[in-house]
Amino acid sequence: MEPTTTTLTPAEAEAARKAEEATRALAARFDAEAVAAQLEPLGAGEVLEWAFEQFGQDMYIACSFQKTSSVVMHLATEINPDARFFYLDTDFLFPETYETRDRLAERFGVEFERWHNLTPEEQAKQYGDQLWKTDPDACCGIRKVEPMRRALSTVDCWVSGIRREDSATRANAPKFTWDKRFDIWKVNPLADWTERDVWTHLHKNNIPYNPLHDQGYPSIGCTHCTRPVMPGQSSRDGRWSGSGKTECGIN
Ligand code: SF4
Repeated sequence: MEPTTTTLTPAEAEAARKAEEATRALAARFDAEAVAAQLEPLGAGEVLEWAFEQFGQDMYIACSFQKTSSVVMHLATEINPDARFFYLDTDFLFPETYETRDRLAERFGVEFERWHNLTPEEQAKQYGDQLWKTDPDACCGIRKVEPMRRALSTVDCWVSGIRREDSATRANAPKFTWDKRFDIWKVNPLADWTERDVWTHLHKNNIPYNPLHDQGYPSIGCTHCTRPVMPGQSSRDGRWSGSGKTECGIN
């Protein structure tokens, strides 16, 4: 079969050239490895402080409404009350997750910007019923990666709550890196936090957190793809259980 080619209009080609130029300029702002080494010994609050100084309001903090989101929100709002937060609404989140969103919004006085894609009905019509079973990568692509791409196209840096302890694929996560997937900078202020660090911080500061964590769910995503774990299983074993999938494609 002949490869298909798309011809851009002159205006589209010019817009694409400018976008590439802007991405190159953004990537050139920092030496990722040198900055990551400089931030490595710093605490999470200091890392966030540095990031706010560099990016200001061009930084977006991602919230999954799991326990680390509660920690990052607390630290970020203490430094910058105008910090910007967003979440990906897959329409398949647990009721407890939406309730946690509302409790955090009230506690910290913030509004979460909501990014989403097709309705479940539109997805079923276009891709078939229960896409999360037949092709979970495609489902995550539609419901998470695509809205994430749109959200991050508006900023220069994003903040994630991932920790090295979460999984083997996150074991080497630096505190600052160029995110090739989205062509912007990424800050992982909790990269070196342990499970105990997270819980100590939450309890000490009386911060709201997702109650599903107390019901056997160490990691929480969509209702269709999350289950509690058994004692001795790793925290991510409850996600996409029974399939080889381990990440949704955004971290
Ligand atoms: S976690 Fe499951 S339901 Fe949610 S977007 Fe991914 S595949 Fe779809």
